[in-house]
Amino acid sequence: MFGLRIDDVNREEAVRHIERFFKEDRFHYIVTLNPEGVVIAQDNKIFSSVVNGADLVVADGSWLVRAVRFLGGAIKERVAGIDLLLDILSLCKEKGYSVYLLGAKEDTIVSAKKRLEDIFPGIRILGFHNGYFDIEEEAKIVEEINSLKPDFLVVGLGMPKQEIWINRHRDLSVRLAIGVGGSFDVISGNIPRAPYWMQVIGLEWFYRVLKDPKRVKRLSFIPRFFLLVLKSKLGVV
Ligand code: UDP
Repeated sequence: MFGLRIDDVNREEAVRHIERFFKEDRFHYIVTLNPEGVVIAQDNKIFSSVVNGADLVVADGSWLVRAVRFLGGAIKERVAGIDLLLDILSLCKEKGYSVYLLGAKEDTIVSAKKRLEDIFPGIRILGFHNGYFDIEEEAKIVEEINSLKPDFLVVGLGMPKQEIWINRHRDLSVRLAIGVGGSFDVISGNIPRAPYWMQVIGLEWFYRVLKDPKRVKRLSFIPRFFLLVLKSKLGVV
């Protein structure tokens, strides 16, 4: 759809694929794609090729699910990035897979780590780093990850930075990486998640703008997304 890979999986099926990824001794990465990501990919060819090279791409947005169906594609359900992240962390706790957290501001990542250790007692979070680093610091982070060899790397640098970062570091000693956008902000409790009814009807983006009015600038992707859907329907793209 829109030149991008989007896998027709529900949350349970996604987790089953992930169980397999952990068993295979190589690097895998997951993209949680939303309408904003679809629009970004139209201009950013590096990002679109990173999406298409992923081991799993889930539709993280009810408008994306609606658009895929409107265009005749098959998609079982929305798989929200934060829900999938919590499912994977639960699997990590259950199976003893280790974790490294990268992204967000320092106080946010510190509280997100603590919160995750409360939610999943016994989970092995081997290390963490905030998401604001220069090239020298980045080399140290890479070295640290390679020495700790976590099974699961969670990267919250925002889209498309996190996906491009993950792809650039495909040689890291990890089995699975995922880009999670602002999930550390939600997990730490700094930013509340939209009420469930807003998630269901596809108004999560609106809630996030209400909580953080600076995000209003980012809404220009909405008309572009609908135009893209319309053009695809009419066969213009
Ligand atoms: N971020 C970061 N480093 C950067 C830019 C952003 O760690 O250089 C973090 C930022 O602090 C926030 C997340 O990336 O935690 C992006 O959140 P946003 O809500 O914009 O992402 P979305 O979920 O919309 O992709």
